[in-house]
Order: sequence, then C-alpha cells, then structure tokens
Amino acid sequence: MADEIEEKSFKFHEMELDDRILKAIAKLGWQTPTLIQEKAIPLILEGKDVLVRARTGSGKTAAFAVPVIQKILNLKQIAIQQEIKALILTPSKELCNQICGVVKDLTVKCSREVRCVDVSPQVDLNVQKPLLVEKPDIVVGTPSRILQHLKAGNLSLRKSLEILVIDEADLVFSFGYEAEVKELLGYLPTIYQAILASATLSNDVKSLKSLILHNPVVLKLEEPDLAPASQLTHYHLYAEEMDKATILYALLKLCLIRGKTIIFVNTVDKCYKIKLYLEQFGIPTCILNSELPSTIRCHSVNQFNQGIYDIIVASDERALEQPDTEKGQGDGKKSKRRRDKESGVSRGIDFQFVANVINFDFPLDTQAYIHRAGRVARGNNQGSVLSFVSIKEKPLLQKVEEALKQDREDISIFKSYQFKLEEVDAFKYRAKDAWRAVTRIAVREARLKEIKQEIFNCQKLKSYFEDNPTDLQVLRHDKALHTVRLQPHLADVPEYIVPPTLKNLSGIARRGKRKRDHSKTFESSTAKFRAKKSNPLLSMQFEGFSKKKKK
Ligand code: AMP
Repeated sequence: MADEIEEKSFKFHEMELDDRILKAIAKLGWQTPTLIQEKAIPLILEGKDVLVRARTGSGKTAAFAVPVIQKILNLKQIAIQQEIKALILTPSKELCNQICGVVKDLTVKCSREVRCVDVSPQVDLNVQKPLLVEKPDIVVGTPSRILQHLKAGNLSLRKSLEILVIDEADLVFSFGYEAEVKELLGYLPTIYQAILASATLSNDVKSLKSLILHNPVVLKLEEPDLAPASQLTHYHLYAEEMDKATILYALLKLCLIRGKTIIFVNTVDKCYKIKLYLEQFGIPTCILNSELPSTIRCHSVNQFNQGIYDIIVASDERALEQPDTEKGQGDGKKSKRRRDKESGVSRGIDFQFVANVINFDFPLDTQAYIHRAGRVARGNNQGSVLSFVSIKEKPLLQKVEEALKQDREDISIFKSYQFKLEEVDAFKYRAKDAWRAVTRIAVREARLKEIKQEIFNCQKLKSYFEDNPTDLQVLRHDKALHTVRLQPHLADVPEYIVPPTLKNLSGIARRGKRKRDHSKTFESSTAKFRAKKSNPLLSMQFEGFSKKKKK
C-alpha cells in the first residue's frame, strides 16, 4: 500500500548533502530546490521506494540523481571494492544521454569517486564492455540495451545493485519494453531501492509500480501542468498561413523575438518548409524530427543547449508519444519511413534556457499544447509561448483555453499579441516570394539531403571525430540546405521596409556581435524596443570545419 504523505520543505543545504554535491549545484546556478526536489530528495535519502509524478521541466532528473549520488558517496565510505550501485533505465537514447549529462554536472566535484556510463549508443556490445568492466557506479541505458549487456555477461548486478531508477516510466511499456523490463528484473538482486519517475500516472505506470516498487511513497505533487503565469506568458495571434509566415520573418528579422526559440509545427515536411523559408532570409535553423538518426538528435540538442545556435524547428509528431506498439523498430511495414523506437524528439528532452516557443501550427490537443509549453520556463526560468492561430485552428485554441482555464479560476491564460500586420506590409512581398519558392519538391529534396548529410557526418567521420573531438563541436546542424534558390539580398532588411515605430532603434538588420541573454522573451511590437547592439539571429557565423571543407 502506498502512503501519500505531506512532507516538510527543505533547502539544498538542509538536506545533508555532501559538500561536493552542493558545490556542483551552486555551479549549475540552482539556488533553491524545485518543489519535486524538495519533496523527493529527503525521501530517497531515507531509503524509501518512491513513485514521483511531476510535470516535464519540474527538475525531476535531479530529484532522483542528487540522492542517488549522495547514497553512492555514503556507500563508498564503507565499500571494499568498486561496484555498480545504481541502474537508471529510460526509454530513449536522448534521455539516457541527458540523464548521464545531469549526473556528470552534479558530480563535477567528485568525478573520480562517482562515475556514470551511458550504454544506450548502438555500438557493438564489445565496444562498451571495457566501460562496464571498470564497474562504473551508475549505469544508464534503455531496457533493451541493458538486457543485452546482462545476457552477454558484460554486466552483473545481482550482488551489487542498491538503487534502480526508471525515468519517464509511463513511456517504458508503450515503447515496447514490457518484456525486456520483466526479463531484466530477473537479473537484479531481491532487495534494492526503486524509484519510478513519470509525467503521468497511466495504467502502464501502475503495472510497473506493482512490479518494481515495495511499499512506495507516492509523490503526486499538486503542481499545475504548466508553469505559473508569473513565469510563463501565453500569447496568441490570429493569422492565416501566409500571414503566419510573414509575421515569423518580421519578428525574427526585427529582433522582436530574442533568445533561444523552438518553432513547433505539426509535420516533418513543415519543419523543412520553415527551415528552407527562413534560410532565404539568412536565418539559420536546426531541425529536429524522429527521422533523423538519434546521435544527430542528441548532438543537435546538446549544441542548442550549449548556445551554438538559437532556433530549432521541431515537429510534434504523435508517433513519438505513442510509438509503435507492435515493436516498431525495424519491422517497418506500416510506415515507409523508419522511425527509431528508442527515441522521442521532445518528450522529457531538456532544451535548456529556451526563452520562446512559437506554435507556427497550433497543437492538436491540450496535452500537446502543455507539452510544447513545457519546453520553456523550465526549472525556475522565465518564458513565453506565442501561438499563431488560423480560423481553422480557432476551435483548437478554444479547447485549450477552456481546459486550462479550469486550473486558473476562469481567467484565460492567453493574452493577445499586439502585432500590426499593416506595419510590415513591405515584408509581405518578400515573404510571399520566399514561401512560394519552397515547393513540395524542394521540401522532399531537403529531407533527403539532410538525412544523407547527417548520415555521412555520422559514419564517415566517426573515427575522425573520435581522434579529433574538438572538430565535432564545429559540425553544425543549422547549415543551409540550399534546395531553394538563394537570393542574397533577402538576408538584409533595407531601411525602407522597417516599420516607422522601429526605425530609430539601433541594431535591427545589422550584423553585430552576439551577446546572449537567455532570459529575453517576446517583445510587443508596439512596446519600446531597445535592440541594443545585438541581433542574435543575424550574427550566426559558422567558423571552422565548414570553412575548411566546402560542401
Ligand atoms: P528536468 O525536469 O529534470 O528535465 O529539468 C528541467 C530543467 O530545470 C533543467 O534544465 C534543469 O537544469 C533545471 N533545474 C533543475 N533543478 C533546478 C533548480 N533547483 N533550480 C533551477 N533550475 C533547475
């Protein structure tokens, strides 16, 4: 039976955490624990089995990673030999990569004492064997990958494992891992502490709970699905497709959107349409969808997080949330295009310091809206969501408005975004030309070209990058695809098309030195806008690899 308990709140320094963890937390700039961390860390430290239900972006990863690291440090004081103490399972390779990254950030001050290995990359098992022979303290992987290593005898957990964590537990079964998880449990000791973390409490989570947890504490935080209004602002703007395109171009070129931005669309083709459209104005973007190889997706997200580029165009595909239940990977009969079972583009993926989400296409339901909006205002950061809404999409907006109103005392969460389309009339002509230039054929070619380009990057240069890791940094994913004829003059914004209200402002359409400020969000076009010296979207220069090696 699960107890639902009310816990007292703790700050990081009151949680009896090792100084090295506290220093790492300070280095990350986290001042106070998020709600889920406040509740979960002490319970996990006490040794309780915990089921954590928390919304995406709530700081869930550190909620289990911090106590796991602390427990390992405690165990090390009495340990005689090096052993694998914790196993973290999660359904996608991107999440494995991300969790391992968080653990590494939290162990920067004790990296010799606590080592973490992510075995999710699909390389030959023998390549990873030496990593496991060293018995890292924490092993992260997808259930199938871990099972392969267990079966191959590369990994032995029966005697040493102390903690099992399953993150994004609600996706584990729907990604088709049920049999693997059950089989994997046979390789674990009879007693260990278990933690399940999940964004929802679906029936799958309930099954996992009865399978794995013993007498657990259920932390079902009464957190709203979305960050509070003080942290996250929701704007909407009515516009049809062509006007959406014009507005997007004007907002980006006039620096009315600043900071890191994710543009969401509803299909993979549309991703490329937007990329090719913006490319004509000299606005580089990077694409993220389920058809790109997972290493590329991880690399793109990492580079976005490091601030190497500022705009991602992502398609919010249903298949990623409810992937093939029929053991999708490799069967490939239903869909001509191969999707990767072990990957989800955005669920649980941590795009860091995102200031804005733009819904170019309005999401198809409330869950999708919440999910997209969850990409901003993560942790304790500020953010904005701007949704473009066509007449056809209006009922969808109303549905979301109604659903989210209930949580917020009958007040709509949406504010109207003040944008005077007539002020950017001159942008319309350019936008129209550029939009039309992106034909279906251009989109198809771009999709093929990007996949080929990325696969080439992946395989041919793999060994090269192993020898030259710094060159990997300069391999960018926001390169122009050039399947549409480029007209160099479109990259500039001549003064005569700048709306009078913005004319006197410096910095617009001028290449300046990029000065990053992650906290910047949408500016109202009527508000006094001080662009200062920088336009981050104009100053993206790729230096290095592409210069040496022309495509
Ligand atoms: P997660 O829900 O684990 O994916 O975390 C969402 C984001 O919140 C990540 O970018 C974390 O770096 C950030 N984060 C986690 N904990 C904190 C905290 N206590 N204060 C500020 N940001 C945090």
